[in-house]
Amino acid sequence: MFGAFSIFVIMIKENNKTCGIIGAGVSGLAAAIRMRNKGYKVTVFEANNFAGGKLSSESKNGYRFDMGPSVFTMPAYVDELFQISGKNPREHFNYIQLDPVYRYFFEDGTVLDSYHGKDRYSKEMAKHLNEKEETIRKYLKNTEYVYELTADVFLHNSLHKLKNFFRRSVLKGLLNFGKIGAFETMHEANSKSFKDKRMVQIFNRYATYNGSSPYLAPATLNVIPHLEIAKGAYYPEGGMVAITNALVKLAKDIGVEFKFSSPVREIVIENNKVKGLRSDSGVQSFDVVISNMDVYNSYEKLMPDVKRPEKTLKQEKSSSAVIFYWGIKKEFKELGLHNILFSENYKEEFDTIFSKKSIYKDPTIYINITSKHTPQDAPAGCENWFTMINVPNNSGQDWDALVEEAKVSMIKKINRILKTDIEKYIECEMTLDPRLVESRTSSAFGAIYGNASNNKFAAFLRHANFSNTIRNLYFCGGSVHPGPSIPLCLLSAKITTDLVK
Ligand SMILES: Cc1cc2nc3c(=O)[nH]c(=O)nc-3n(C[C@H](O)[C@H](O)[C@H](O)COP(=O)(O)OP(=O)(O)OC[C@H]3O[C@@H](n4cnc5c(N)ncnc54)[C@H](O)[C@@H]3O)c2cc1C
Repeated sequence: MFGAFSIFVIMIKENNKTCGIIGAGVSGLAAAIRMRNKGYKVTVFEANNFAGGKLSSESKNGYRFDMGPSVFTMPAYVDELFQISGKNPREHFNYIQLDPVYRYFFEDGTVLDSYHGKDRYSKEMAKHLNEKEETIRKYLKNTEYVYELTADVFLHNSLHKLKNFFRRSVLKGLLNFGKIGAFETMHEANSKSFKDKRMVQIFNRYATYNGSSPYLAPATLNVIPHLEIAKGAYYPEGGMVAITNALVKLAKDIGVEFKFSSPVREIVIENNKVKGLRSDSGVQSFDVVISNMDVYNSYEKLMPDVKRPEKTLKQEKSSSAVIFYWGIKKEFKELGLHNILFSENYKEEFDTIFSKKSIYKDPTIYINITSKHTPQDAPAGCENWFTMINVPNNSGQDWDALVEEAKVSMIKKINRILKTDIEKYIECEMTLDPRLVESRTSSAFGAIYGNASNNKFAAFLRHANFSNTIRNLYFCGGSVHPGPSIPLCLLSAKITTDLVK
């Protein structure tokens, strides 16, 4: 599509209106690019001195770490931002398709890889698990069917505009509501589909992609593996932060103005209409404001006098994470880019997170090693380990003690499964826990994914992309419709900016 000589020139038609954006998370960046393309003069206020929010990167002692997201799906949504700006994405941002995607480790010694494509995936899984290839393929076909039925209802349009319910594709999804698994949990559906509990556990795991429990979240979320297995998982050249860097550069190139280290203190409102934003350098007027700040804190901190949509804001929040970013002075050939070391009792693990609000004694560990693809992310002969477990959000637990305990149990598990003595090889360390998620990105309670999806109405109870009471105030990002993750945050920016008249 984009030949070497392709020339894209799109002139932005100025409309003499201004848009202020709160936050340079991936959704705020996408919203900025889209609003600029609509002809608005756009200013992005970012509290940090860097862009990207959760999608950022840090370095220590010669190791580089992506601090948050590591799995990249639906890259076309990033490409689209270049295309609408008249640029060839391939000249600015590149990625490779992963195959295999994950390496799974079970306590019983099973080690297996998940491959791209329904056929290959099913074949490889069936080789290692007590499941028929055909059973797995049938399951994946159903996830595709449910995705096709639901994408226009839950992902591509505002759920809060009546007119959208009359679109043909949305109507079709709604009329087939009984077939999308809304009335059973992910685990119930998965354990009906498979007899091998390892296969059930692999598919249950996708609940963690939006910080939920597979024992509570509706089976509709079993569409998530469709995106990863059938549509593919990717790795951006230069690591995940390359997404942020490419979008910031694109935004600047088309004239978006950034104000870093500029926390917005107040959304200035008069007569139920947005007037502007107050930061430490005063009030700046805007015709339109889009908040990419977590919606809970947008109300709590930036407009405390506005009547809050209590029911929406009080929904259960998602899980969070404890991550150790370790510089490891050894190469582990048995590991890939994405590795999962499963716990034996998944039910107890999720009960501990969501009911006991604590950390499970033997948690499932995710190890991401970008130096497998980008060798310069670690010194020669070494690896950069992003070692993560799912934990509850912050409700005032003693995190210092919990993180210390988690480190001990994680090291024990890694040593047991990889038959190593990992502590010997850790030469530098950074840590993330829910308190830091909260202070770094203003995410309410340090929840990574906004509201949890732990009930069948969760999708309908996310905040809309616009304010019902304040004119010209909009919201985008992981805490509002359609939800968290890079692709959904990019869709959120699209839905939001399409709503701006
Ligand atoms: C550990 C971890 C792992 C994850 N793994 C994946 C994954 O593998 N794949 C995936 O797709 N997603 C993953 N996610 C989720 C994904 O990162 C998020 O859903 C997405 O990045 C959220 O983007 P956002 O635009 O909503 O906002 P955020 O990234 O939260 O950014 C919000 C920005 O707003 C700024 N801000 C807040 N308040 C103010 C204010 N008052 N004034 C100015 N600026 C303000 C913040 O500083 C921040 O920069 C992960 C997240 C984490 C933390």
